[in-house]
Amino acid sequence: MGPQTPAPRSQNIVWHHANVSPDERAAALGARGCVLWLTGLSGSGKSTIGRRVEQLLLDRRAHAFVIDGDNVRHGLNRDLGFGPADRTENIRRIGEVAKLFSEACVLTLTAFISPYRSDRAAVRALLPPGAFVEVFIDTPLEICEARDPKGLYQKARAGEIAEFTGISAPYEAPEAPEIHLRTAGRTVDDCAAEVVSWLAAQGFLSA
Ligand code: ADP
Repeated sequence: MGPQTPAPRSQNIVWHHANVSPDERAAALGARGCVLWLTGLSGSGKSTIGRRVEQLLLDRRAHAFVIDGDNVRHGLNRDLGFGPADRTENIRRIGEVAKLFSEACVLTLTAFISPYRSDRAAVRALLPPGAFVEVFIDTPLEICEARDPKGLYQKARAGEIAEFTGISAPYEAPEAPEIHLRTAGRTVDDCAAEVVSWLAAQGFLSA
């Protein structure tokens, strides 16, 4: 069986090892993968910054891909709602998918509110040391609410959306994120460039 617990429901499942080790794969592709886990309030800028980082990385011919929260809820996680148990399962599945992308040497960006520390810690625990990069998109609630790009805060204030993070459901801010991005008063490009610089400094990008 593989390194992850709990065990699969079926007992007739064995773990297949690849012919290529993680190091051999990275050497063959000239790239290492990781998961850049963007977390923050709705409207904080996760999707916008994630997509800009993806674009900057692709411009450098780095293999980058954004797994976007809303899009995943149309497919893989369309059976899940926004209560605590479903939010946890949402993040668990995304974590598993992001892990696969990362193992395939992709610089994987995820853009999910992921409000619970324990859920983010669980994804961190799935990945080898150094492969989980927590990126706190730190935008004050007042600014997110003023931006309100999807009109969701207005609906939440009107009581039309239950369990809305920051209004009627908690957001547990990261305590020690690898990257702490304060977006207030800054441009998207400036924020995205900070993430790319961090990746370069950590050796994820070839010169
Ligand atoms: P989220 O994915 O976190 O819900 P979005 O990326 O959908 O947030 O929305 C963030 C909004 O804030 C966008 O309309 C974006 O243009 C705007 N914005 C303004 N300044 C910034 C910044 N510095 N970083 C990110 N987004 C910003």
